Amino acid sequence: MKTIGILGAGQLAQLLAHSAYQLGVNTLCFADHADFPAARLSPIFEGALDDFDALARFAEQVDVVTFENENIDDATIDYLANLKPVLPSKKAMLVAQDRLNEKQMFDQLGITCAPYRDVNSHEQLESAYHELGPGILKTRRLGYDGKGQVRINHADDIAMAYASLEGQSLIYEGLVDFDSECSQIATRAENGDIVFYPLIDNHHEAGILRHSICPSNRLDLTDLGQAYAIKLLEHLNYVGTLAIEFFVDDQQLIANEIAPRVHNSGHVTIEACNASQFENHLRAICALPLRSPKVVQPSRMDNIISKFNGSNEIGHLYHYGKEEREGRKLGHFVMPLN
Ligand code: AMP
Repeated sequence: MKTIGILGAGQLAQLLAHSAYQLGVNTLCFADHADFPAARLSPIFEGALDDFDALARFAEQVDVVTFENENIDDATIDYLANLKPVLPSKKAMLVAQDRLNEKQMFDQLGITCAPYRDVNSHEQLESAYHELGPGILKTRRLGYDGKGQVRINHADDIAMAYASLEGQSLIYEGLVDFDSECSQIATRAENGDIVFYPLIDNHHEAGILRHSICPSNRLDLTDLGQAYAIKLLEHLNYVGTLAIEFFVDDQQLIANEIAPRVHNSGHVTIEACNASQFENHLRAICALPLRSPKVVQPSRMDNIISKFNGSNEIGHLYHYGKEEREGRKLGHFVMPLN
């Protein structure tokens, strides 16, 4: 039986392990301690990502390595990649680590994205604001769930916004006036086969995904979503599941960012589709044939954030096993839609 090594042991690793069980493969999650969500479903290999002896011992026990978080040092990936295949590739991970690289890749591939400027000084932010108008100042690296972002509505906000993120490499994005948001999730196999999930509608508040609906009510944009996914997957020579987050403006999909991994919005595919994003990710990295996703039950997923409230609704509850904390994703709940 194959063993998949997963760097990280949070909820994405937990859900990969859940799927691995049904696919008949083992998982081993690499994390600096065992008190993580994935420990409920998978053995954990305890070690630090910069401890190369630990990485070597971990690599001995697995057939292929994947990750649940793209913010891993390239030295770690290079070291592991010399020992076992690491999928998806470092190229995808490095692009996704940096919002500027990501935007430049969108431009290069002809994928529409928000207007942006590289910002390294207060003066550059002033001129970016004057060119693009209201927008969002973001850290290029390590931002998630709305962290590392400040909205600039007026010229008066510039000084405070810059001071709050000063010292980090920044990007300023013009505000996109969107109708809705959606994601395109797709999986590519080593032989180049690609399968697509239907577009999924996403609703964010304060930068955090609150709920997702599969399939989207904008399936008229399917061809465009798939065309963009093909460009990205082929450009990155990608193996595994990739998510692209879009803003929807009338007939346009405007790319916001990519996730070189399984994605929170794709949790709904476990119930909504005949094969989940997790299953196809594992199939791709294990060189098993992909399953073409079909909707079997239109569904809605709600993230459970900050606090668990009892629910009497019929559905599937996923409890990640984390302590309650303000702004933290603790689990999710999937309900059928008819
Ligand atoms: P991000 O951290 O880039 O995924 O942003 C989180 C959420 O903030 C997005 O899903 C949007 O709801 C909002 N957002 C981010 N960037 C922009 C933008 N340039 N224009 C409008 N809304 C944005």
